[in-house]
Amino acid sequence: MRFDVLTIFPAMLEAALGDSIIGRAREAGLIELNFIDIREFSTDKHRKTDDYPYSGGGGMLMTPQPIYDAYMSIAGELDYKPLTIYMSPQGKIFNQKTAVELSKEEHIILLCGHYEGVDQRVLDEIVDMELSIGDFVLTGGEIPAMAVIDTVSRLIPGVLAGESSYENESHFNGLLEYPQYTHPRVWNGREIPDILVSGHHANIEKWKHEQALINTYNKRPDMLETAELTETDIKFLEEYKNGDSKTKF
Ligand code: SAM
Repeated sequence: MRFDVLTIFPAMLEAALGDSIIGRAREAGLIELNFIDIREFSTDKHRKTDDYPYSGGGGMLMTPQPIYDAYMSIAGELDYKPLTIYMSPQGKIFNQKTAVELSKEEHIILLCGHYEGVDQRVLDEIVDMELSIGDFVLTGGEIPAMAVIDTVSRLIPGVLAGESSYENESHFNGLLEYPQYTHPRVWNGREIPDILVSGHHANIEKWKHEQALINTYNKRPDMLETAELTETDIKFLEEYKNGDSKTKF
């Protein structure tokens, strides 16, 4: 999968996405990341990429020309249009479901805005989708773009050790993940749940699922409204709410 990021701070993205799991996935050729410096495409003699908004109101806006030329340096070479996403606080909120959908794309272009944002005309010309990472405003689109690239990349086969690495995780199946424990077996007087060393695989799987239900009920009850729950799940949660469940959390 290929991502091209249009940005005025390419070094920021390289620093964050050059190491660890994503860095290894790049080296292995599982993902291709290119960071295109919009400033390089500015025809202004001072390589300016921003100007005053016609509406007044203070702040600067990114001008359309360098963004469009940076975009065309990629899209102009292709016989298809890569999905082009503007990272924006006005966009649809990015979540795991959207990440799964994006992981099926072969080529995505991400546009990072700065200052007061981007001239609307270039957005109308090139953008297919606006994505937000939450109802708050950052100074630029680079951190949001990194969040999208990191989240989508780890869904690409081969990037994580095994598919189960993310299939059990929070949000993948509409629930939060169960609590996890590593060595030592007793730490600071706190023991891990006995079930985890019982060797009974089916019971361990049942425990994990029930703990995921409890975790979601306690931390994000809103998610249970849309999660696909079985009759057994609903009965288990009713018992838990009534304090009848033997499951210790
Ligand atoms: N004036 C814009 C508005 O009110 O919608 C906000 C501009 S913001 C300060 C500068 C840039 O940061 C945006 O162009 C966008 O690329 C990025 N950005 C800020 N908050 C974001 C968010 N929550 N999600 C995605 N991108 C965001």
